Amino acid sequence: MHPASPTSDSAASGRDVLIVGGGFSGVALACALLRRARAPLCVRLVERAPQHGRGLAYGTTEPAHLLNVPAGRMGLLPGDEGGFARHLAETGQPWGAADFVPRALYGSYLQAQLAAHARQATPGVQLLALQGEVLACHPGRAELADGQWLPAPRLVLATGAWPAAWPGPLQAAAQQPAWVADPWRPGALAGIGADDDVLLLGSGLTALDMLLSLQRQGHRGAVTMLSRRGLLPQAHRGLGAAPSTHADSAAVLAAPGSLRGQLRALRRQVAAAGPDGPDWRDLLTSLREATPTLWQALPLAERARFLRHLQPFWDTHRHRAAPPVRAAADEALRSGRLQLLAGRVLRADAVPAGGCTLHVQRRGGGLQAVPARWVINCTGAGPAQAAGLDALWRGLLQRGQVRVDALGLGIEVDAQHRLLAADGQPQPHWHYIGPLLRAGHWEATAVPELRQHAQALAQALLPAG
Ligand SMILES: Cc1cc2nc3c(=O)[nH]c(=O)nc-3n(C[C@H](O)[C@H](O)[C@H](O)COP(=O)(O)OP(=O)(O)OC[C@H]3O[C@@H](n4cnc5c(N)ncnc54)[C@H](O)[C@@H]3O)c2cc1C
Repeated sequence: MHPASPTSDSAASGRDVLIVGGGFSGVALACALLRRARAPLCVRLVERAPQHGRGLAYGTTEPAHLLNVPAGRMGLLPGDEGGFARHLAETGQPWGAADFVPRALYGSYLQAQLAAHARQATPGVQLLALQGEVLACHPGRAELADGQWLPAPRLVLATGAWPAAWPGPLQAAAQQPAWVADPWRPGALAGIGADDDVLLLGSGLTALDMLLSLQRQGHRGAVTMLSRRGLLPQAHRGLGAAPSTHADSAAVLAAPGSLRGQLRALRRQVAAAGPDGPDWRDLLTSLREATPTLWQALPLAERARFLRHLQPFWDTHRHRAAPPVRAAADEALRSGRLQLLAGRVLRADAVPAGGCTLHVQRRGGGLQAVPARWVINCTGAGPAQAAGLDALWRGLLQRGQVRVDALGLGIEVDAQHRLLAADGQPQPHWHYIGPLLRAGHWEATAVPELRQHAQALAQALLPAG
């Protein structure tokens, strides 16, 4: 696959598709279109990072950053869950379907899939993998940061989630170099000294990855993870554990359309399962397909209650850590090197010797001062207020070309993934795929959900193939 120059490519037919963003969603959609198209079509896939197929999740080169889904369930295509495990075997990698493998290998698999789909496409069906940052979208074309234009008779935004944002009280302090806004930026942790105190804001999967990165670079200082509830992601069951049977979300679906009723039904199921029944993880997994239906059935006020009270529990049970990753965190807690703190930051005061003191309101009462030479934002995808940090999204919002949902989780689209403009009308030729679909689906982050969206969007774009 050779990146083409935008200038070499000005002609476009009305069917052609420009995909902005070459992470998982962009690649999955490009592959689905290339596979499906039977008449001439050009799929342009433009990515601002040096490589396609990596995105935020699979661009890491750190071998300790593992997939949080076993390899055997990470296939690119719906109906071919085993595709990635097969790729590992075919390329001589020493891992099997039950293993949690380094995420960089998944990025290589996506690149191989993109190249294979381009090679095998029907004659006249073409992929142009382009390099560039889209700054603005206009009818029929997209403007790049270098001033060039790309034809875009039909356009799909696959630009991922919004950037992480610092909590309000930290925004002024966070301008200093020792505050790491984007932990995935290559070299983001390079300046951290072996004995420096580090505060990780957040205690989810990103925070666990940063703990592992610090360990691997020989860091010996104190690490504090701070989050609302101070909860770590639960661990997946051990490698090779067979999923238990009979897990069934029917009782939850049948529960009255209130959050309280559904939570009670789920708890009853877990309690009733007993030692020989389904594992709680399988019960939760069995809710996966039904989650969008459950979410859409909740009134807005109930969704807001979920976010206020239940989200930390949902996140830590639903988005689990690979067993070796969680084991490393448990060991760091046991040794005292890692502290887990539940609360919220009130303010940060600079310290003359360098670094700062963070003043934390502890959950359950009391104040705590936490010294930190470095503060790393591990809070993950940002809220709607963070959209303005990205030039493309800032413009889309200012021009009323997209509409954020009432809870600020993501953006609104119709059933064909068409973007809704500020006035609620679908933009006829502009679509979105990726984690911002959580506004309407709640779960729209992981590969198993996103590959379904890619297939559905390809069908909407090419109804007759
Ligand atoms: C750290 C991490 C680990 C994860 N691990 C797993 C896992 O193990 N298993 C699993 O199922 N899911 C995992 N996920 C979830 C899931 O795979 C990701 O959410 C998924 O990669 C989302 O893909 P995306 O393409 O929508 O967004 P992204 O991966 O964010 O990709 C968006 C791409 O668009 C590009 N882009 C953005 N704006 C522009 C622009 N204006 N012009 C050009 N290009 C642009 C970006 O450079 C980026 O490459 C993980 C997520 C993260 C963040």
